Amino acid sequence: MYDAVVVGGGPAGTITARLLSEDHDVLVLEEHASSGLPMQCAGILTEEVIGMCGVRPDILGRITGADVIFPSGGRFEVRSEGTKALLIDRADLDRKLAEAAIDKGTEIRYGTRYLGHKTTEGGVSISTGIGDIRSELIVGADGHSSGVAASIGRNLPREYVYGIEADVRHRSEHDDIMTLRIGSEFAPGFFSWEVPFGDMVRVGLCIRAGTGNSPHEYLKKLLKTSGIESADVISKYSGKIPLGGRRRSYDERTLLIGDAAGQVKPVSGGGIYPICMAAPVLRDTVRESISEKKTSAHFLSVYERGWKKIIGRELSRGYRIRKLYTGLSDDDFDTVYGIINRDDVKRILDGIDLNSPSTVAGPMMRNPQVGLRLLPIILRAIL
Ligand SMILES: Cc1cc2nc3c(=O)[nH]c(=O)nc-3n(C[C@H](O)[C@H](O)[C@H](O)COP(=O)(O)OP(=O)(O)OC[C@H]3O[C@@H](n4cnc5c(N)ncnc54)[C@H](O)[C@@H]3O)c2cc1C
Repeated sequence: MYDAVVVGGGPAGTITARLLSEDHDVLVLEEHASSGLPMQCAGILTEEVIGMCGVRPDILGRITGADVIFPSGGRFEVRSEGTKALLIDRADLDRKLAEAAIDKGTEIRYGTRYLGHKTTEGGVSISTGIGDIRSELIVGADGHSSGVAASIGRNLPREYVYGIEADVRHRSEHDDIMTLRIGSEFAPGFFSWEVPFGDMVRVGLCIRAGTGNSPHEYLKKLLKTSGIESADVISKYSGKIPLGGRRRSYDERTLLIGDAAGQVKPVSGGGIYPICMAAPVLRDTVRESISEKKTSAHFLSVYERGWKKIIGRELSRGYRIRKLYTGLSDDDFDTVYGIINRDDVKRILDGIDLNSPSTVAGPMMRNPQVGLRLLPIILRAIL
């Protein structure tokens, strides 16, 4: 009998398992043959988040600024002296996180699919492709379409955005500036990115559901507009991102983390930072649950209160900004461009913290030349 079975060998699963293995017998179930592939990530992390991961993935580049292209073609440049984000080899990060968990005593069974679980007074019985496994607790770290989360009724995320990325052989003019495009032509309901990775560019986008076209169609258009449609495509990935959170991240003998819990930054779609923040809270909850032999949903709800205390405010503020963003038309975006294309606003944005991007909203709105002129557009988007 394990203390905890963690479903999913992605970053949420292996970071959590490493922490839990400090005091407990932990098994990770991963359906693929190894950690890290298939990859669904732009690979953009801040130095702070890499430090929080506890392992150092291969660093492939760094970003000091961004060109944001508005629907009419207006280009808004954000620049900084220092590094804003690092470009990492995400598959390498996942592999190193799995190795670090194993080093701490975690057992990982690859090629083993979670099929469902039953909770009884004596523990959890987990069915897998290779038979049943018993545990005190189950941790759902099984990603955006989590089966463990589905076992908690009415628990879908508020929305999904659908992403696609292509790694294309091409050297960008600047090796530390990424290009983001907003508007309905390339990424309705989200944004697109062109990120320089040395001799390669990672071109990607997300769209919200119900736009009529597939992410693939938008990607084709984006590659054409960027002038690299005939460049070699090295690899292509697709995935989806749960936004707006789920109703619950706990149930009897059950805890959720990462995409499975809907712990994703709504403005950027970044998922690694929330995982790093939530994992120690989950570890502490499990420690108490096992030592006090208390496994009810009521007892485990302390986990949700704990992680929401640390990152709940930032995630819900981010989702409010997202709702506002998705209410803007292309004309609204271009009007915003006209209002914010000023040196004082650029200075605010130059200081953006990519871990908490929504914190620039306050200083911008307090600027009288900006706030008052943005207000009618914001009100129209909300109403
Ligand atoms: C296009 C795109 C770009 C992104 N870019 C970034 C970025 O630049 N920076 C950033 O911070 N975040 C980014 N994200 C988000 C980030 O990749 C996710 O938030 C992160 O991977 C979540 O980690 P996780 O461990 O919760 O889930 P996952 O990484 O999805 O891992 C879940 C694991 O569970 C396994 N699993 C699922 N079901 C079962 C089952 N039934 N049995 C056994 N195993 C199972 C899966 O095989 C998988 O290995 C991006 C996402 C997308 C889609």
